[in-house]
Amino acid sequence: MTQAFLTHISATLRALDAEGLMKHERAIQGPQAARVLVGGRQMLNLCSNNYLGLADDPRLIAAAKAAMDSHGYGMASVRFICGTQDLHQMLERRLAAFLGTDDALLFAACFDANGAVFEPLLGEEDAVISDSLNHASIIDGIRLCKARRFRFANTDMDDLHRQLQSARDGGARFILVVSDGVFSMDGSFANLADLTRLAADFGALTMVDDCHATGFIGPQGRGTAARAGVKVDLMTGTFGKALGGALGGYVAGPQAVIDLLRQRARPYLFSNALPPAVVGAALAALEVVEGADDLRAQLASNAAYWRAGLQGLGFDLLPGSHPIVPVMIGDAPLAQTFAKALDARGVMVSAFFFPVVPRGQARIRTQMTAALTREDLDFGLAAFAAAGRETGVLA
Ligand SMILES: *Cc1c(COP(=O)(O)O)cnc(C)c1O
Repeated sequence: MTQAFLTHISATLRALDAEGLMKHERAIQGPQAARVLVGGRQMLNLCSNNYLGLADDPRLIAAAKAAMDSHGYGMASVRFICGTQDLHQMLERRLAAFLGTDDALLFAACFDANGAVFEPLLGEEDAVISDSLNHASIIDGIRLCKARRFRFANTDMDDLHRQLQSARDGGARFILVVSDGVFSMDGSFANLADLTRLAADFGALTMVDDCHATGFIGPQGRGTAARAGVKVDLMTGTFGKALGGALGGYVAGPQAVIDLLRQRARPYLFSNALPPAVVGAALAALEVVEGADDLRAQLASNAAYWRAGLQGLGFDLLPGSHPIVPVMIGDAPLAQTFAKALDARGVMVSAFFFPVVPRGQARIRTQMTAALTREDLDFGLAAFAAAGRETGVLA
């Protein structure tokens, strides 16, 4: 590698650091959980997607071990050559039954599922209309397809109507409206009742990415469409959040669509099959989740308690009910100072700032899980109060 190139890369890194935009990893010693060990210190974890607390659940760990014993460690193949086991097919059927779709197709991650789904289904005669706050993987997936691209302002149904009209006026053959079910930076929900009604008015298809919903939102955790009492045409999701938190993604939908994705989706065709341990534990996760009304109730009660507690202390929150509770700080360096002050008090959070969220809207995104106890939350609230006063976030 030439010195000139390395100098150029180092300059980019220094610029990131100078702007206060550098991300640093913390190494957790031990399993993901409500309380984790970091550098020998016990920390209260308020920033994982471990919504139902299943990341260290003994039932999932036992299922992973059993699947490894019965089906081995790795597949050493893509699905269609010799990488499909009975376990993969069971999981696809189980997932489709859980989500109420004809079929489902597994991917290595939801990032891959979103990267895979658009290109085989839409051509240049078609249009895709995407919410402005959709996940990066949806944006990338749309870039990979030839359909005309339209964007509507976050959950703005008047704007969606305008974009549907322009797509139709532009002569689009098929129109697909795509939205996150939950917007992860804000903890807000897509307006799926109106979105599906508008799409139907225009004969458009609908797709929802339910990564921050599957397992804990809606009846039996079936997601945001179930919560809104509507049907969407395609769903994508992950096993990397509430469903055990390991990895793996999927597309679920009508049989013909899944059949075509099996033939044409590039991340499916050209990337390895999920390992048996992950598939076995994912099957166990679905089993647990279907009967986990107690965990969902605990999660909802934690989220309500946490929100009310922060509000009572005088923090500026985005309104909502999702277990994602963003504490608005505004200034990016102040958000980082505040996160550090919380860290010093044994509370692990993450500050989000430009370009992940708009400039001037830096925030601490806190996330509730069912594994947090009342005692944990009171400890967290005391730390927020003290750190808030120390940094001037609280008057
Ligand atoms: C986390 C997330 C993804 C990516 O999921 P992985 O399985 O981790 O790749 C995609 N979309 C949304 C909305 C997400 O929150």
